[in-house]
Amino acid sequence: MKVRFWGVRGSLPSPPTSDQIRQKILRVLEKAACSDISSAIKREEFLSKFDNWEVGVIGGNTSCVEMSTNDTLLIFDMGSGMKKLGDYLIKKHSSEGNILAHIFINHTHWDHMQGYPFFVPAYRPNTELHFYAVHENFLDRLNAQQDFRFFPVGLDIMAAQKHFHQIEVNSEQIINDLSIKNIELHHPGKSFAYKVTHNGRSAVYATDAEYNNLPKERMFEYINFYEGTDLLIFDAQYSFIEEIQKVDWGHSSALVGVDIAVKAHVKRLGLVHHAPENDDFEIHKLLNIACEYRRNNYPDSQLEIFIGSEGLEIEI
Ligand SMILES: [Zn+2]
Ligand SMILES: [Zn+2]
Repeated sequence: MKVRFWGVRGSLPSPPTSDQIRQKILRVLEKAACSDISSAIKREEFLSKFDNWEVGVIGGNTSCVEMSTNDTLLIFDMGSGMKKLGDYLIKKHSSEGNILAHIFINHTHWDHMQGYPFFVPAYRPNTELHFYAVHENFLDRLNAQQDFRFFPVGLDIMAAQKHFHQIEVNSEQIINDLSIKNIELHHPGKSFAYKVTHNGRSAVYATDAEYNNLPKERMFEYINFYEGTDLLIFDAQYSFIEEIQKVDWGHSSALVGVDIAVKAHVKRLGLVHHAPENDDFEIHKLLNIACEYRRNNYPDSQLEIFIGSEGLEIEI
C-alpha cells in the first residue's frame, strides 16, 4: 500500500511567504559559499545533501492523504491538497480509463472539505466517487459548501457518479482487499480516525484530535486502535505549551504523539496538520523537540518520527 501526502497544513491554506523563501535561500547560499558548485552535476550533488524541506516546502495545502494499492484508491479528507491530487489523477488516468475513488471524511470543517469544488475528476461523468462519513447529513454539508452564495458551481453540476455511504462509528468497511475501521476522536463537532489494513500492514489517519483530560478508558481505546500500526498520521498542530493553553480546541502536539505512538508500538509517526502560522523552520524545530523527547524518555524505542510534507510518498 502506498501513502501519499497531498495536504498537510491545518486550519487554513498557508503558502510560504517571500520572506520565508528568502530565509531558505540565504541558508543554502551560506553553505554554498564554501562548497564547489561550479558544474550542474556538482550543484545537484550539493542540493541533494539537504533535507527536502530545506530546499523545498513542507506545503501549505490543507488535509488530504491518499492511500492506494494497484486496484484501489482511498482518499482521506478533501482539503485544498485535493486539487493537486485531482490533477494528478486526470493525468494518470487519461490513458488508463475511468477514475474510481473511495473518500473517507475525518470531519467537515473547511480545511477538510474546501478542495472538493476544485477536484477536476468530480466534473467528469466517467468518474465514480464513494463518500464515507460517520457524521450525519454529509450530502447536505457538501451541498452547503457549494451554495451559490459561496461558490458559483453547485454540486449537481459536478457530473461524477456520486454514492454516499453513512457509516457507523467503530464499524469496518471492506473495499476489495482493504479493511477500513474507524474510531471517534475528541474534536469540536467530532472527528474520526481511520485505520486501513492491507496484507497484514496498516496505516492510521488520525488528524484533528485532542487527548487532554480524556478518561483513561478512552485513552486505552486509542492505544488499542493504533496498536502496532506501521504508520500513524497524527495531528501535531501545537507545541506542547500551546496544547496546554488551548484546551478543547481539538488539536494535539508531537510530544503527545510520541507518548501515544510508543505505548501503541507504532513504527512510524507522521506529523501533520501543521499550524498555519508556523514556517518550515518552526515545524522542523517541533520535530527536533519530539525526537529529543523520544530519545530521553523512551531510549529503547525504535519509533521513527517525520514531518508529513506535500508530495511525500511512503510504501507500507
Ligand atoms: Zn483540521
Ligand atoms: Zn476541525
